[in-house]
Amino acid sequence: MIQQGSRQHAGSTPLNAADLSRGKGKGALHECSTASRRAAQFDRRSMFDSLTGLYRRAYVVERAALLLNSSHTSVLFINLDDFRRVNETAGYASGDRVLRAVAHRLAGAARSGDLIARSGSDEFLILMDCYEERELARCAARIIGLIGAPFMIDGRELTVGASVGIARRSDGKPDTATLVRNAEMAMRAAKRLGRNCTQFFTQAIDGEMERRAKIQSALPGALAGGELALAWQPVVDGASGKTVCAEALLRWTHDELGAVSPMQFVPIAERNGLIGSIGDWVLEQACTQAQQWRRSVAPDLGIAVNISPLQLDKRFVRKISRVLELSGIHPSALELEITEGRQVLDTPSVMSSMAAIAGFGVKFVIDDFGTGYSSLSYLRRLQVHGLKIDRSFVAGLPHESRSVAIVEGLEKIAHSMGLTVTAEGIETNEQAAFLRECGIDRMQGFLFSHPLKPDDFINGYGRRGS
Ligand code: C2E
Ligand code: MG
Ligand code: MG
Repeated sequence: MIQQGSRQHAGSTPLNAADLSRGKGKGALHECSTASRRAAQFDRRSMFDSLTGLYRRAYVVERAALLLNSSHTSVLFINLDDFRRVNETAGYASGDRVLRAVAHRLAGAARSGDLIARSGSDEFLILMDCYEERELARCAARIIGLIGAPFMIDGRELTVGASVGIARRSDGKPDTATLVRNAEMAMRAAKRLGRNCTQFFTQAIDGEMERRAKIQSALPGALAGGELALAWQPVVDGASGKTVCAEALLRWTHDELGAVSPMQFVPIAERNGLIGSIGDWVLEQACTQAQQWRRSVAPDLGIAVNISPLQLDKRFVRKISRVLELSGIHPSALELEITEGRQVLDTPSVMSSMAAIAGFGVKFVIDDFGTGYSSLSYLRRLQVHGLKIDRSFVAGLPHESRSVAIVEGLEKIAHSMGLTVTAEGIETNEQAAFLRECGIDRMQGFLFSHPLKPDDFINGYGRRGS
């Protein structure tokens, strides 16, 4: 019987490993001896993960039919949320200990006879003889609760979350490998839903993943194929309502896929390394276009360009310097909007690039402020000139008391630090009136204008006031 929280060390005996992999209880002991007999034919290293003592993914996928002996099987695919952060902040040794402790907690949550495997660095699988949706949802909720409880590692409290994808099989279809892949897709959908939650595999998820795969293969051709364009959304002065800045927003239209949202393709570009070249293109286009407007009808117009933290290396510092020179735009007219998202911003290399770029006179603004991990600590540590209050807070104005408190609090904090505060996602006059009253410097949202094609933006510029 596995005790929850007991310690399992690397290189643990195979018997313990099998116990751990099979869940707990009488059934586990019986099946464990059966498994042990079968296991004799296999190299133990190919069966068991040396760190956690759990089965390996390949082994359970290959042997599931024998080990479970059921045509009604479900797979729970578990991915830890924020595990990278544990490694980064507490070190890899502590990360390993968290993974071992998670393995024990999973064994505590699993039912007798369930198969537990480690699938990848921070990913786990549970295969169970169960098809009942409510039972599976209950099991997943238990797992999320157990994994979410803090781990005490070397006197330090560490926490992670868990996103769970579930795929079910009846009458032996699909095969186990497909079932596991489906559960993995459902887990990714759970991540996109906000993490720390459960998602069952559906055909819609399958369709979405197919689209994502197409996006992935079409993206490398987007730049060369001339499929990218910029839309411009005005940012207006809070008091006068005049357009003071234009935010460049990337657009991609593909023959077969149609319009693809940057929310979908930017994260893919970040993963496959295309963000550098795409980001360079955005910067060049935006600065050239804006300088043309500044030279003609909009001399005081500022521009905001969104950048990914992954772009912030030494090469990008040189790129900024070249683009400023070639376009002729004054550095103080350029703002770089950076979303903290899941990437860590305050690493020495990012901070030194930011300092070099800020040294040219370019401004940094933290976008979607309040939605990332350490917004407030970034205000203390990074050289930023402003913040953009995320539209999720603006959406609650002026009636939702917590949103009101957050927006009022952020305004005070930012202004006392000498930062410019912009509110984004403003859709109603009520929201704008509240924010004006609050003393927010700049506003942006569909109430003032949707993102526009370049000609529409500049034609409307005079009408909106300059
Ligand atoms: P963001 O920088 O926070 O941009 C604001 C997003 O909210 C835009 O979506 C805009 O169309 C939308 N929006 C503006 N006003 C309103 C409103 O009143 N209500 C609602 N519901 N939405 C509003 P879009 O263009 O789809 O861009 C999404 C995100 O993609 C951007 O969020 C930004 O993080 C990213 N992105 C866009 N262009 C680029 C780019 O060139 N580079 C990088 N790295 N990211 C980009
Ligand atoms: Mg932005
Ligand atoms: Mg934003």
